Amino acid sequence: MLRRAAILSIGDELALGQNVDTNSQWLAAELAARAVHTIEHRTVADDRAAIAAAVRELAARVDALVLTGGLGPTEDDLTRAALADALGEELVPDEAALEWIEANFAARRITMPASNRLQAMRPRSMQCVPNPHGTAPGLVGTLERCVIAALPGPPREMQPMFRERIAPRLPVDEGTDVLLTTTVHELGLGEAAAAERLGELVARDRTPLVGTTVRDMIVSARIRAAGPAEAMRAAIDGEVAEIERRWHPYVFGRDEATLAGAVGTLLARAGKKLVTAESCTGGWLGKMIVDEPGASGHYVGGWITYENALKTSALDVSSTLLSACGAVSREVAEAMASGAMAHADADFALAITGLAGPEGGSAEKPLGTVFVALASREQNGIDFVTRRFRFPGGRSVIRERSALAALQMLRFALLGVAPDTPMLFETLPVETPAAPRA
Ligand code: ATP
Repeated sequence: MLRRAAILSIGDELALGQNVDTNSQWLAAELAARAVHTIEHRTVADDRAAIAAAVRELAARVDALVLTGGLGPTEDDLTRAALADALGEELVPDEAALEWIEANFAARRITMPASNRLQAMRPRSMQCVPNPHGTAPGLVGTLERCVIAALPGPPREMQPMFRERIAPRLPVDEGTDVLLTTTVHELGLGEAAAAERLGELVARDRTPLVGTTVRDMIVSARIRAAGPAEAMRAAIDGEVAEIERRWHPYVFGRDEATLAGAVGTLLARAGKKLVTAESCTGGWLGKMIVDEPGASGHYVGGWITYENALKTSALDVSSTLLSACGAVSREVAEAMASGAMAHADADFALAITGLAGPEGGSAEKPLGTVFVALASREQNGIDFVTRRFRFPGGRSVIRERSALAALQMLRFALLGVAPDTPMLFETLPVETPAAPRA
């Protein structure tokens, strides 16, 4: 039998919807990876009685209860007191915890406010857990047979504490059953086509269980299997391989993998470098690339040439071409890519020019029209693969989709995928040239 857990997040800002509860999502995945099945997420405002009631009620039903938030030194941080109420205990000072907190302030050469002494209080039967990334210690203990852990709210404090100090204390499953989950991501097929390719794999009575979700343009297959460890591991691996086969060449990674990361790995493996020239995306493509550690090995940098004049002065896009074809055109996208290539020591250039709105657009080039040009340095010169897209969505959705599509185009090139492989939201490959303006 799998062990069961509940996650309780605490804070007015979460209950009111001002902040998004990402801790529960992260914790549920961490618990699942340790064969602990989360059966409930609950959010409670900064209300001592409500927190204590939730702790008692959840602890009676699960093997592990993880709380986050409300461990700070202020009046609205009530987790400690509520836990004491739930356990029917008093709060007692913890000398070791007080020393850590004082040492933490001393290391930062700050005088410790008296209120921080509160953070060294714990319900009598619980232990304090040091917090290497902040001042609030965590707490761990048990209520009847349920392990209870309380962790600070900020994810960068909570996550290492959970992994280092709480995970080793989780109830161990004595059986051989595990719950394994993984996700596989694709970009460029679209949800309907992706689901069609999955076919019978998404039937609800199969093990592993497969479902799809879509976020922006990325479709993810979520795979879940519960049962004996070895068999489930093999089943998941087999399922991933099958989904990768069915989603080829659009599938780019698993779990935390990003498209920019996948492209970075391929560039590094090939020893190739990339330069970018962006207009409507305003640096979004560059940001995605630089978000990945190790980007300096394969990304030389880029230009944001938003105004036509800068396209001309920085990237040598001729003003005649700009007025003949319009800034949002196949010709200008290619001229931007070749200008970037001419000014940088790179093997590939990606250029993006499009209409992200909300103003502008015409019958011929409606809002969401985006041209992405990929220039590749070949022995005999420069090759171009240019695609025209029409992305639905608002300004930022169009811009993000443009950057993602550009990355997938480069990934295709690095893998030798045929350049005419269709992509979601791509419109006719041949553009009717814009009439030259008088
Ligand atoms: P601190 O000592 O930093 O005050 P705390 O345990 O008291 O720690 P809270 O005051 O409840 O934590 O939350 C601090 C911040 O942590 C919140 O403003 C929010 O940014 C983040 N946070 C809290 N809970 C969550 C959550 N469930 N998901 C994501 N972020 C959260």
